[in-house]
Amino acid sequence: MKVPLLDLKPQYHLLKKEIDEALQRVVDSQYFIMGPDVAELEKEICNYLNCKYAVGISSGTDALLLALMAIDLQPGDEVIVPTYSFFATAGVVARLNAVPVFTDIDPVTFNIDPKDFESKITPKTKAVIPVHLYGQSAEMDEIITIAMKNNIKIIEDAAQAIGTQYKDGKYVGTIGDIGCFSFFPSKNLGGFGDAGIVTTNSEELYQKMKMMRVHGMEPKYYHKIIGGNFRLDSIQAAVLRVKLPHLDSWSAKRRENADTYSKYFVEAGLAAEEGKLVFDSENKVLLPKAVYKNSGFKNHHIYNQYIIRVEKRNGLWDFMKKKEIGCEVYYPVPFHRQECFAYLNYKDEDYPISNFASEHSLALPIYPELTNEQIKYVVNSIAEFMKG
Ligand SMILES: *Cc1c(COP(=O)(O)O)cnc(C)c1O
Repeated sequence: MKVPLLDLKPQYHLLKKEIDEALQRVVDSQYFIMGPDVAELEKEICNYLNCKYAVGISSGTDALLLALMAIDLQPGDEVIVPTYSFFATAGVVARLNAVPVFTDIDPVTFNIDPKDFESKITPKTKAVIPVHLYGQSAEMDEIITIAMKNNIKIIEDAAQAIGTQYKDGKYVGTIGDIGCFSFFPSKNLGGFGDAGIVTTNSEELYQKMKMMRVHGMEPKYYHKIIGGNFRLDSIQAAVLRVKLPHLDSWSAKRRENADTYSKYFVEAGLAAEEGKLVFDSENKVLLPKAVYKNSGFKNHHIYNQYIIRVEKRNGLWDFMKKKEIGCEVYYPVPFHRQECFAYLNYKDEDYPISNFASEHSLALPIYPELTNEQIKYVVNSIAEFMKG
């Protein structure tokens, strides 16, 4: 049986008629840049996330870059980011000649460790970027308390977490100063190419980001501030508008799949004791934990990724390739181990949890249309590997 890591075709076939019509509408209008669909998408995202403002952006990376430009990040300023995330989270900081300061992560959620965040604050700290990794919220209450005490801006990297709710029901990306989202095709809400959006409840930041999206221009050809070309294509907005009403049902299916995995892992005797963070001798699998499951809010986790940790990760990954099961490692190299950040001289032993995660985690297929038979096959294959 073949099980791809992600298959976008069923989603397209479900919505083919509507999407094709939306695309044709844009093509007929020949209004490709910032057409009416962009403004409509911004309104619909605000409604969905219950926030005041949204600005459609060219990608999730550009959303993060624009957010940092909008808070006036200066060369030499420090921005605290978890060392374990997709590269963009730290790359945007360095691109502005500011200093990325890395923290370790929480061993259960894989998100920024608030205590480590607090310990890394200096007079130069301008912002923190909590990442809601894999579709689960970072511990925002603690982050907000620490950030407010130290006058630090919060830029949320919600690229993997559109629709995720924190334990108080708030949508991630609307809790800090600016939220940054990606609509890369493999995210839970994906376009037909690169796309993203920023959200905020601050009118001032909204106006600034809207201006900076088009080179800081207002009115035309008069530039008060320096921005860039961060525009969202009409075609992306049109596709995303068709998909958005289905997002919650897709996230629900992902949660169901996660529960099915847990059930099968437990039945196979493979699941490590809940909350366990080290491997015992019996070839167990550390399962992901939805820490806000009891909050009562449906989107406590949207499982952009379903991540297990196993002792012999690389061996299992090779085995899964032979079984034609798509798996991936997010992420094999934390920032403090990246060649491009060697100049920062961070110490490897300061990041034990991230190092452990990078060496032992493996993403299994979790997309909404996955069948129970496929999930069973994945778990059985892992059982086969564990028996050796
Ligand atoms: C995908 C992703 C980004 C970047 O988004 P793009 O749209 O690919 O530029 C940033 N941060 C995280 C955590 C991501 O997963």
